[in-house]
Amino acid sequence: MTRWWWIMGGLGLIAVVATGTVVFSTMARRSTVDATKEMLSMDASSSFTGVPSATSSNQIPAGRLRMVHDPIVKPGELALRVPVLMYHYVRDLTPGMSTSSRWLSVSPEHFRAQMQEVVDGGYHAITPDELDAALNGKATLPAKPVMITFDDGYRDQYENAFPMLKTLGLRATFFIITGYINHNSPVYVTPEMVKEMDASSVATIGAHTKHHPELAKLKRADQKDEIVGSKAYLESLLHHPVTSFAYPYGSYDDAVLKIVTDAGFHTAFTTLLGSVQTSSTRLELRRIRVLDDEHVGPILQKFGSNE
Ligand SMILES: [Zn+2]
Repeated sequence: MTRWWWIMGGLGLIAVVATGTVVFSTMARRSTVDATKEMLSMDASSSFTGVPSATSSNQIPAGRLRMVHDPIVKPGELALRVPVLMYHYVRDLTPGMSTSSRWLSVSPEHFRAQMQEVVDGGYHAITPDELDAALNGKATLPAKPVMITFDDGYRDQYENAFPMLKTLGLRATFFIITGYINHNSPVYVTPEMVKEMDASSVATIGAHTKHHPELAKLKRADQKDEIVGSKAYLESLLHHPVTSFAYPYGSYDDAVLKIVTDAGFHTAFTTLLGSVQTSSTRLELRRIRVLDDEHVGPILQKFGSNE
């Protein structure tokens, strides 16, 4: 009898431990998903009105302060620490602006100061293809590499940021929403402006879909149309391959990744926070959102290679 109770007790203990393990691992998985979701950030206006709209409840601009989200580097895999700065509007901030608008805006004056910090810090602005070549072991990067990126193709990027980048000789990548640039909207660049930037020595043009949807929420055919369509439009406009992509709102899933891969993009950028870039995550590259009142120097020191 006593022995029987020992056996029953032992089995019960095993059951509790096993259940606890399952619950714990489930919770761990869920918290990972939530953390990832938390990093999906609102991005831009999806209309021609120029009024930015938040698309999710995540309007907290302090994500960088809470955690650094870097990929797990597989054994033997090449990983490079390359900070990729993410900008949207380069325009003056006004008192009436919403929190989300302020979060997406850096004033021209502060942008100039931030770019001067890049230069003064001895950083070298690289292109997406240079990063890709380095991740594939086909090239080495200059010391203190950095990338400067702009999402959405706003007119103020062309008017305010592009001239400064040319003056400073800093290369940057502009991700264009191709369905928005042919409507004579004062908010977005025109095809002629895209061509002018592309012909310069500092700008790389990348694709950012046709209409800026949350890709993970679309049907497969629509995902493909948005991704492949934006690439095809830019390539017919610029007469050369367009190899870099950025996910609107940082939204993507496995199906989107496959379409981006099959479309022939070499690199694709998320809104996930971090600066460790690897060859297996070259289509899920991390970035760092820069706010108006921030200094870029400390950001690059924290996220850079410390060379
Ligand atoms: Zn965007």
